[in-house]
Amino acid sequence: MKSTMQDFPLTVASVLRHAASVHGDRQVITAVTPGSSRRSTYAELGERSAQLANALRDLGITGDERVATFQWSNQEHLEAYAAVPSMGAVLHTLNLRLPPHQLSYIAGHAEDRVVIVDDTLVPLLARALPEMGTVHTVLVAGSGDTSVLEGHGKEVLRYDEVLAAQAPTFDWPVVDETSAAAMCYTSGTTGNPKGVVYSHRSMWLHSQAACTHNALGIAYDDTVLAIVPMFHANAWGLPYAAMMAGAQLLLPGPFLQAAPLVAMIEAERPTMSGAVPTIWNDILNYVRDNPGHDLSSLKMVACGGSAVPRSLMTAFDELGIRIVQAWGMTETSPLAAVALAPAGLSAEEAMRLRGTQGRVVAGVEARIVDDTGLVMPHDGKSVGELEVRGPWVTASYYGGEDSEKFHDGWLRTGDVGLIDPAQFITLTDRAKDVIKSGGEWISSVELENELIGHPDVLQAAVIGVPDEKWQERPLAAVVRKPGAAATPDELREFLSDRVAKWWLPDSWSFIDAVPLTGTGKFDKKVLRQQYADGELTVENSSRA
Ligand code: ADP
Repeated sequence: MKSTMQDFPLTVASVLRHAASVHGDRQVITAVTPGSSRRSTYAELGERSAQLANALRDLGITGDERVATFQWSNQEHLEAYAAVPSMGAVLHTLNLRLPPHQLSYIAGHAEDRVVIVDDTLVPLLARALPEMGTVHTVLVAGSGDTSVLEGHGKEVLRYDEVLAAQAPTFDWPVVDETSAAAMCYTSGTTGNPKGVVYSHRSMWLHSQAACTHNALGIAYDDTVLAIVPMFHANAWGLPYAAMMAGAQLLLPGPFLQAAPLVAMIEAERPTMSGAVPTIWNDILNYVRDNPGHDLSSLKMVACGGSAVPRSLMTAFDELGIRIVQAWGMTETSPLAAVALAPAGLSAEEAMRLRGTQGRVVAGVEARIVDDTGLVMPHDGKSVGELEVRGPWVTASYYGGEDSEKFHDGWLRTGDVGLIDPAQFITLTDRAKDVIKSGGEWISSVELENELIGHPDVLQAAVIGVPDEKWQERPLAAVVRKPGAAATPDELREFLSDRVAKWWLPDSWSFIDAVPLTGTGKFDKKVLRQQYADGELTVENSSRA
């Protein structure tokens, strides 16, 4: 039996139309300098997106051609988010933090035609542009110098001038909801980055899931500060979710340090935000070192991208701000699981659940699989690789690469952990970072989470290093806070009440900063290499 429901496609254009008409007066606020902002509305977004779409048509963008962005989180980037998929083309957000050879590889792989770039990022783009063979035009947002872009056979135009010549209306085509809307490459710690291609439908459903109370609960009365960059995993879907809900959107531009973020929070009073743990940790240290700041507008902040230390959640609880841990990856759009504790639990139990990677949101399914592919029970004990599936989980990489990451319709996440009977997922490591000592697993994630709770520790990354007797033993690479002097023995003593004795690291290295990947995660491959090359100064704790 056929339903009587209308066949109405779930598209980005429908989100844009909704935002521009129903929530037309709601604001989009972009930081222009650390202390000042530019204000616009969703109604203006509708018009500017139409102008951009008209301009891109004039530049020859047809069908599902790719339009890349090389931008911070700002109004022009949001215009590309809205216009490019709505016109039927495909938005490709380039990650500013990738090295030039990876950027040009990605742009060629995706066959990008046009790149929209912030003027402040022109010098960075110029390093990759000569090798971006498929790109014919660069649109520069802002009035900064563009001379370094000249001489590579690309047309270089000013974004504002190009838009000013265009009509503020566009007849958004009806596109198939399963067609490509946007793409994003994962950093690919081995081999080349892999492309994930989002559909209109996947983005629509993902955004709506983000708005549910069981996920991030983004609503009309929210002001959302999207700290997670728009060049990474669609800024966790916050921009589209805000447009759908009619929430106001705060875009911090390049000002992602604690001081300007705190200033923006005080000036614009966002109610929710999303960022990785390092950012919240920086903000926490900043407000502790500079008392008197007011973050009280924030009711809830989403945190993910790597495990969220409990000490961070407790410290934010004391500020009256609830950190909600979420788990996901570029391949899952990214929101897949959220750690919310039900009411009525003891404070300790609630904190334990909030410290997990959470439960899947409706639509996504999760399971744990062992080395042989056997599906394991959700008993809170069986450890294996986490696999997920759902309408906003990718079924393959663009071009069919790395097909071994998919089987039976499930994505192999590369994350290792367990699921308990209440369906809370706890991750212990990424598959490539697990530490196997004497045949047993040691969770580097848990060691890091505990170490960061020590008052002298700014950052901690734990890696496995070869050991004759045990195969591998943990080495903790620690960044101490300025002026702090914790010793290996003190840190080991601190950990000894918190983790199993045989987990305690014997080797320690005090470093200036943990090396990061293009997506801002600890790059443990680099740390392991530094260790192998003898570049780390290693101190041993006198064993207890
Ligand atoms: P990349 O894979 O390029 O580093 P992603 O943002 O796609 O970038 O990373 C996804 C990975 O981040 C996950 O597979 C997982 O390892 C990690 N991650 C995300 N959220 C969490 C979380 N809440 N706790 C632990 N790890 C997380």
